Amino acid sequence: MWMDSLWTLAASFAVLAVVFAPLERLFPARAEQAVFRPRWLVDLCFFAGQYLVFAAVTLWLLRGVSAWAGEHALLPLRAAARRLPFWLHAALSVALGDLLVYWFHRACHRYDFLWRFHAVHHSAEHLDWLAAHREHPFDGIATQLCLNLPGILLGLPFEAMGAVIVIRGFWAVFIHSNIRLPLGPLRYVLGAPEVHHWHHLRSERTVHNFANLAPWADLLFGTYHCPEGPETYPLGLPEPWPKGYLAQLVRPFIPEERWARLAGASATAPRRRGEEIAPARGPGRGASGTLPAPAGK
Ligand SMILES: [Zn+2]
Ligand SMILES: [Zn+2]
Repeated sequence: MWMDSLWTLAASFAVLAVVFAPLERLFPARAEQAVFRPRWLVDLCFFAGQYLVFAAVTLWLLRGVSAWAGEHALLPLRAAARRLPFWLHAALSVALGDLLVYWFHRACHRYDFLWRFHAVHHSAEHLDWLAAHREHPFDGIATQLCLNLPGILLGLPFEAMGAVIVIRGFWAVFIHSNIRLPLGPLRYVLGAPEVHHWHHLRSERTVHNFANLAPWADLLFGTYHCPEGPETYPLGLPEPWPKGYLAQLVRPFIPEERWARLAGASATAPRRRGEEIAPARGPGRGASGTLPAPAGK
């Protein structure tokens, strides 16, 4: 079991590094960013934590919800959905998953309790393929539930859902990578790293680009934001935030004043919801048993 997870961890790291590291050198969004930039090891810990522990927890939870839904939830709807052509069944499940996670992501930026967990992901001050894995496990698991709940309720076969999870995970790595490709209008259809990078702008809480796969929900609800020009704006959180892996795992559970006392730092000012600091520049995010994929917010 542990050997399997370690093997998957090593193999996935190798595959992602082989695919993305050269692309980040050839087509960098921020050419000055080093491969081993600050906090690279912290993000490696998040990567390892996902593969060794939290992916299995997520998969166990999804299987449990799927088994329960198979017995109890919306049975006529599942029966009707299964009569659809497979491609339509799958497309409907993916689109509804996109929609659910879009609103969940907006809620994460709106409500303090959810934000404390999601802030871990936003604490990255450098984006690349490894930083995509910086997620608090509660945030990642809740996001995976949102992404997959429509497919579960519509009775999409678990194998097909597994394939979608892997594609979403790969795309999540891509949109966080330090890559700028000349996608042109395709970025309105598929999304692109530069679109999601704006979601990581250092601000109180960003108010743009909440979509997971394609940016259609951002376009539909008026939250799409992708100015032209080079990426020179700062990334990360404006407030103090712990840097270490274990500290970031426990930080969301501890009230702000208590954390400030523990850390020996002064408490930060309360954040205002939905307010964005002006950008620094320009006008104006295995189908098998291990689920090796970041959730992609
Ligand atoms: Zn976010
Ligand atoms: Zn992100």
